[in-house]
Amino acid sequence: MRSPEPLIFEISKPGRKAYSLPALDVPAKSLEDLLPASEIRSEPADLPEVSEVDLVRHFTRLSQLNHGVDIGFYPLGSCTMKYNPKINEEVANLPGFNCIHPYVPEELAQGALQLMYEFQDYLAEIAGMDHVSLQPAAGAHGELTGILIIRAYHRSRNDLKRTKILIPDAAHGTNPASAALGGFTVVEVPSDSRGGVDIEALEEAMDETVAGLMLTNPNTLGLFDENIERIEKIVHGKGGLLYYDGANANAILGISRPGDMGFDVLHFNVHKTFGTPHGGGGPGSGPVAVKAFLEPFLPVPTVVLDNGKYRLDYDKPQTIGQMKSFYGNFLVMVKGYAYIRSLGPDGLREASRNAVLNANYILRRILEYYDLPYDRHCKHEFVVSPSRIKRNTGVRTLDISKRLLDYGVHPPTNYFPMIVDEALMVEPTETESKETLDYFADVLIAIAKEAYENPESVKSAPHTTVVGRLDEAGAARNLNVRWERPE
Ligand SMILES: *Cc1c(COP(=O)(O)O)cnc(C)c1O
Repeated sequence: MRSPEPLIFEISKPGRKAYSLPALDVPAKSLEDLLPASEIRSEPADLPEVSEVDLVRHFTRLSQLNHGVDIGFYPLGSCTMKYNPKINEEVANLPGFNCIHPYVPEELAQGALQLMYEFQDYLAEIAGMDHVSLQPAAGAHGELTGILIIRAYHRSRNDLKRTKILIPDAAHGTNPASAALGGFTVVEVPSDSRGGVDIEALEEAMDETVAGLMLTNPNTLGLFDENIERIEKIVHGKGGLLYYDGANANAILGISRPGDMGFDVLHFNVHKTFGTPHGGGGPGSGPVAVKAFLEPFLPVPTVVLDNGKYRLDYDKPQTIGQMKSFYGNFLVMVKGYAYIRSLGPDGLREASRNAVLNANYILRRILEYYDLPYDRHCKHEFVVSPSRIKRNTGVRTLDISKRLLDYGVHPPTNYFPMIVDEALMVEPTETESKETLDYFADVLIAIAKEAYENPESVKSAPHTTVVGRLDEAGAARNLNVRWERPE
């Protein structure tokens, strides 16, 4: 399909320039003086030649072809697409943080180390844990780190028979992937009729060959598992450890702590819960927090405070090793730190309360048209199913999501968790106004009605976007970003 606006190559005219350079004020040298002949191309590169305004319009237009949280509502379940406060960017742009070299001596990096040390401390407090490593670069990377810590712990006790990790069927897909990458066999635990872990199935699966259980609570259905204390006893009772997937901790800040629930190790996603930008591949930050008995296994280096001086501690004989070059994604930590400091403990709790309130508000508004597989109040997100709509009209979750694009809303997460038919997973976050929440609920209701009145219009959506339905798997696997001049 042709772009509605001309491509930059098509408007290229020889001699147009988007820059002007000052006159050369040093002796001119020829290319031949500067480069060996083999490195000099025989023909100039075929680059577009355009004016400055054409260039500005080109990149501005490209930036608007994608949806972002700075453009509109983004209720992508499990991803916590909250507004990213611009103050965080300003802090991360301070030269003292932004220009610091990773090899700068510790004496000259005290401010950066202090920030990391305090960030470790805040995360430990929020988690109810004792020690934190800021190294992992993403949630899945944090999971792998945690899994390797669990493995190192069992090995340190010469307990080598534990080869399995238990994971509920509602889990995020990265959980089984991380456990497998860490060398474990994954055993799936089913959910019960309330959307929590099936306790009997857990009891049956839990034995001395199990290294641990990975759990998200509230889980990906947005439901809090009230049996967590029983789950803890079952797993610990047989010598296993509890891993908490805290990628999305937006419902619990200052309200409940995984450490108090009995978890031994967890990761957070700074790039979800703590308001730093994400999507498009990073950078992220997935710190890992552990109880004291797991501290010897943390990746090196951690940041410690000795006699009033901050330093990097590499001295951990039992460490699982280094998980990331240098110290992790430092500037993401700076933004997460700024987020925590600007909200404070009360602000964080308020954020979580509003995240839960906003999710429940939308849920109750749309229930006349959408089905709720587990009839409970939700936490920060909820999963509904348009199964009635599908039965009566043939319109599916994917169609509804595509139609939402016509209304300027990013679709919710689709078809996940897999235990819900036609899952539509909505996470509004706390940063949206009541007007935005109402607009979204109104749109979901309008699309439901449209499905009955004119199903074709929903099935052929989107109608207003630059491109229509794409082969998403193909776009990811056979990515082609090269423009070729038509013959
Ligand atoms: C996002 C998410 C992850 C993975 O985090 P990444 O940073 O994308 O690797 C893991 N678990 C849950 C529950 C998540 O929502």
